[in-house]
Amino acid sequence: MRISVTDLCNYRCQYCMPEDGVDKKCHSEILSYEKIEEIVKVASEFGINKIRLTGGEPLIRKGIVGLCQKLSEIEKIDEICITTNGTLLKSMAKDLKEAGVDRLNISIDTLNSEKYREMTRNGKLEDVIEGIELALELGFKIKLNIVLIGGFNDMEIPELVKLTRDNDVQVRFIELMQIGETANWSKDKFIPNDFVLEAVTELKPINIEGVAKVYKVDDWKGTVGLISPISSCFCDDCNRIRLTSDGKLKPCLHSSEEVDLSNMTEDELRETLRTSIFNKPEKHHLDEDISESIRNMNRIGG
Ligand code: SAM
Ligand code: SF4
Repeated sequence: MRISVTDLCNYRCQYCMPEDGVDKKCHSEILSYEKIEEIVKVASEFGINKIRLTGGEPLIRKGIVGLCQKLSEIEKIDEICITTNGTLLKSMAKDLKEAGVDRLNISIDTLNSEKYREMTRNGKLEDVIEGIELALELGFKIKLNIVLIGGFNDMEIPELVKLTRDNDVQVRFIELMQIGETANWSKDKFIPNDFVLEAVTELKPINIEGVAKVYKVDDWKGTVGLISPISSCFCDDCNRIRLTSDGKLKPCLHSSEEVDLSNMTEDELRETLRTSIFNKPEKHHLDEDISESIRNMNRIGG
């Protein structure tokens, strides 16, 4: 289950958020940590054993370390993961580790500070790199998320793959999706993940079943994952459900279908989670490649 704990972010990545940011919701519109914990407890009864916290930027919500601690104490939850832009890891990674967080997915779309600043609209690459180094030292399992954008970072593919030579990380290339901010972007920005295999011919498949197809260069420490929602629909293997920060359950990222869990009793939650999971859409319907979801990515969580 992917839980977005906030729509807000300290960045404004061009493909995700409007330049002016988003309106801050009032406290009562956002799921409380107690409610999130209750929902996760009920969901764990249905076999959900892995929780990913995301956003917006999850690490900017006050008290997030305490939530991680509470969720990691739920009996049937085996893994707590966080998807983050990594800016706050330098100051928070140690506390997150102690609170039971197992994995971090850190977004880093380019290794060029100037391009990074431009795409994030003022992000500082050095902060993220220092955060990644600390997280590696602390023993987190790490994936580096790279959204592949034609004309922006496709020329950096070999350099990004090279991060797997000496580091036990997975570098994951994600195809850019036409959703929210990118709905009207020009077609040449959307490039298929096959580009990665063409750019680094030494990559050999090691597991190409499932949502992420995994490759490796022989004798290098890390792996490369390709997430290709556009060029290769992986809906058959998708077991994700999503919870937005305002309490809406989304059985599919690209569907407009949402169920409001915010005011449900425990019994109602049980029934609703059961029916939503059984009725998860068979596949996404990207209408002319554009998502049917009414939300920007910062309001779903990726
Ligand atoms: N702020 C955190 C971060 O950037 O990792 C978590 C939230 S962000 C919405 C989650 C992931 O969604 C990031 O890896 C981001 O690059 C990705 N993302 C955002 N917009 C996207 C789009 N239009 N297509 C593909 N991935 C996108
Ligand atoms: Fe923020 Fe992540 Fe969206 Fe960038 S991709 S604006 S860091 S939520």
